[in-house]
Amino acid sequence: MRIIKLEFEKYRNLHTGSFCPAPGVNIICGSNAQGKTNLLESIWLFTGGHSFRGSRDAELVRMEENGLSQETASLSMTFFAAGREQTARLKIAAGRRSALLNGISKRSASSLVGTFCAVVFSPEHLSLVKDGPRERRLFLDSAICQVRPSYAGLLSQYNRALQQRNTLLKDIARHRELLDTLEIWDERLAGFGEAVMDERLRYVRTLRPTAGEIYQGISQQRETLELSYSMTVSSGSEEKKRSMLEVLSARRDMDLAMGATSSGPHRDDLKLSINGTDARSFGSQGQQRSVVLALKLAEASVLESVIGEPPAVLLDDVMSELDVSRQGYLLNQLEGRQIFITCCDPEAVRLLEKGKVFRVQEGAVREDCR
Ligand code: ATP
Ligand code: MG
Repeated sequence: MRIIKLEFEKYRNLHTGSFCPAPGVNIICGSNAQGKTNLLESIWLFTGGHSFRGSRDAELVRMEENGLSQETASLSMTFFAAGREQTARLKIAAGRRSALLNGISKRSASSLVGTFCAVVFSPEHLSLVKDGPRERRLFLDSAICQVRPSYAGLLSQYNRALQQRNTLLKDIARHRELLDTLEIWDERLAGFGEAVMDERLRYVRTLRPTAGEIYQGISQQRETLELSYSMTVSSGSEEKKRSMLEVLSARRDMDLAMGATSSGPHRDDLKLSINGTDARSFGSQGQQRSVVLALKLAEASVLESVIGEPPAVLLDDVMSELDVSRQGYLLNQLEGRQIFITCCDPEAVRLLEKGKVFRVQEGAVREDCR
């Protein structure tokens, strides 16, 4: 997966222009608030996903100094994927996006999913280590959806069954006679739950060695990263459905008192430890950043093994808090994929051995001839 050219018009603060990145590493350098993240975000939209900053589509269209929005933002990208050169166009108007792929209009911008693939790291993703288990479950779920699209359907079946069981738990407080129907929902929940746990376990098993290897590389072989999927249902059991049914039954009174289901994959976690200690409680800023990076780059490797080519890697603001050797690893050791790294510090550019440097200033992007 390689971007050959990106053109933009009225996208956020970016002036009408284009940029032609190198096949390997691209550093996007500039002071604060110049448009670096905007540029990465515009690339990300071609994956068919929403803004990784959580912005609404209407916010992506250029707003003038008088506060009035332009009508339409346009993006066009020529890229090499699936063995051929392709062109995708995106238009954002009246708060919605429309897409054209190789001249053919798509049903929606999200139908671009799977055509151009990328993984993104943005500072908000540090919540993956810093925050609670929910963030880590979301990471696992969205990574699995990319490699196995049918997982999204399974997950929504599980969540629907969970919601229905929780509603029933609350209803039983007022209508005791409904207690008999709880078993049906336990059975349903445990069935979908087993499938969700199996998928997550399988994914973590694939991710673990790659993330460990990348983390060792980032830390110059000084530290090790361990991942494990931690379940509320007995992890030793081969028959997770039976094991989940047992736990649901053992905790029934507690669930009834809370009006919520206290066990199952919606309470599981992805444990992350550095040299044997919990990354969330004991990791330094640089270590936590390195863990998230290792997870994201490992996610890219797993995706590559499924789609047969490396996804583009978008790294927004990863350089801060990393020492020179860790920065050097990112700039020079990740071969065979196209990478975009934004940074404010012009010093980082000096570490780059091969690749292109772009300067972004007040929304204008130009290549820096070093
Ligand atoms: P930092 O180094 O601080 O992360 P950055 O170069 O990544 O900075 P961006 O997040 O890309 O900066 O934002 C650049 C500017 O774009 C901001 O000042 C922001 O106000 C502006 N901006 C965001 N959306 C719009 C829009 N719709 N229209 C015009 N300007 C916008
Ligand atoms: Mg930024």
